Amino acid sequence: METSPATGRASKAAVHRTPNDDFRDHLPTVDASGRRRWIYPRRPSGRLHAARRLVSWILLAVMVAGPWIRISGNPLLLFDLVNRRFSILGQVFWPHDTFIFAVAMLTGFLMIVLFTAVYGRVWCGWLCPQTVLMEMVFRKVEYWIEGDAPQQRRLTAAPWGFDKIRKRLTKHGIFFAISFVVGNLLLAYIIGSERLTAIVTESPHEHLVGLSLMILFTLVFYGIFARFREQACTFICPYGRFQSVLLDDHSIVVAYDERRGDPRARRSRSESHDERKNRGTGDCVDCHLCVDVCPTGIDIRNGTQMECVNCTACIDACDQVMDRVGFDTGLIRYASRAGIERGERLTITPRLVGYSTALLILASFLTFLLVSRTDVHATFLRNPGTLSQTLPSGDVANFYTVRVMNKTSDPLEVELRLIDHEGSVTLPGGHLMVAGREITERPAIVTLPPGTVHSRENKISVGVYSEGELLESFDTNFFAPEDP
Ligand code: SF4
Ligand code: SF4
Repeated sequence: METSPATGRASKAAVHRTPNDDFRDHLPTVDASGRRRWIYPRRPSGRLHAARRLVSWILLAVMVAGPWIRISGNPLLLFDLVNRRFSILGQVFWPHDTFIFAVAMLTGFLMIVLFTAVYGRVWCGWLCPQTVLMEMVFRKVEYWIEGDAPQQRRLTAAPWGFDKIRKRLTKHGIFFAISFVVGNLLLAYIIGSERLTAIVTESPHEHLVGLSLMILFTLVFYGIFARFREQACTFICPYGRFQSVLLDDHSIVVAYDERRGDPRARRSRSESHDERKNRGTGDCVDCHLCVDVCPTGIDIRNGTQMECVNCTACIDACDQVMDRVGFDTGLIRYASRAGIERGERLTITPRLVGYSTALLILASFLTFLLVSRTDVHATFLRNPGTLSQTLPSGDVANFYTVRVMNKTSDPLEVELRLIDHEGSVTLPGGHLMVAGREITERPAIVTLPPGTVHSRENKISVGVYSEGELLESFDTNFFAPEDP
């Protein structure tokens, strides 16, 4: 029984395909001697490429502006690992928000799984920063300086001379400059734009670690985009390697319609579609353009492969060929294996229902956690070893320490009050002002009138208020000097 190219599992209704399965025994980017085979993809063009270019420019604009965009004063995205402070879409997460963060990560992971099960590797082709930067920035620079694939091949084969040195130096100089910008952007996402600006504008002696990271990130990105390229998707990215377990026959992938295209054969200039049919030939004119444009060097006609990042270049290339020869477009298209092999429409499988239900539950829980999250986090602890005191007025005083974390980016003035209890909370120095995204600690004195203290140990509730609004409350013990 034949196996489904999408899953590698046995397919119930596999159709006859041109046998060419030896591609599974070797990598397209490695030659027989185990050396790297450099890929020179032809310059892509077409309807989907134009759409991807538009999406890429929007993404690049967001990526570049991201560290400077503020939502309610907080960064759009910030992953400050050193200070353990994270901001996602303007929501600041502190170390004590680990639980929310874990639920958010789990929800995100499940979303990716569900999305992949339905839409395959749309993320890789349209949204992944690696693909966007490689295909829409670095590759464009390469085409601009060295020309299309045939010219690039010729340049590589040519002996070193003035023209080759000039082109290579220009290309790698620009690659390095772009890598520097990308490295700085990554740094800004990690340490924040304010600190990046300080590194750039202040004396290098004061920011040796920051500068070292800047250089390291630049070199890593230069290495990835100038040399490593598609290998990052094939060998390093775990998402790419998960495909075989996430995809099934109903997942939408970039697929070649072998029912329509095979058996492949070259076409003579005057041959019509009917004549081809009559001689038992499929629609694929074996022009090899779908392979020539592939940035990972694979032949999509062999079936879905791990290396395919769903960049759609082969769809555009094949559609242009079909238009030229007067056949219907879509020989290579977005489709599911079940659709191509058995003509099945997209169906909702039990696996999808299971993923969706789990995702719905997690997303609801995450929404609840985010909505019920307060702007402050406070602790109110008795000072260890302190005794209660009876004041000259007869009131009883206990001593505490209050610690308030302001999760917003604006300063917050807070006061403490007892809830449902006579007495007062005094903060030496008056109201407590907590700067945005800071933690402030102050002593606090709780005094209760003598008639309200009924036992050695009394339960009281203290509320943290700002502008009259209760932000958080906590219960604590209040001790009397002796049994009243
Ligand atoms: S097979 Fe097609 S979609 Fe997949 S990487 Fe190659 S060109 Fe892109
Ligand atoms: S581009 Fe289309 S017609 Fe040409 S080889 Fe690929 S599948 Fe066949």
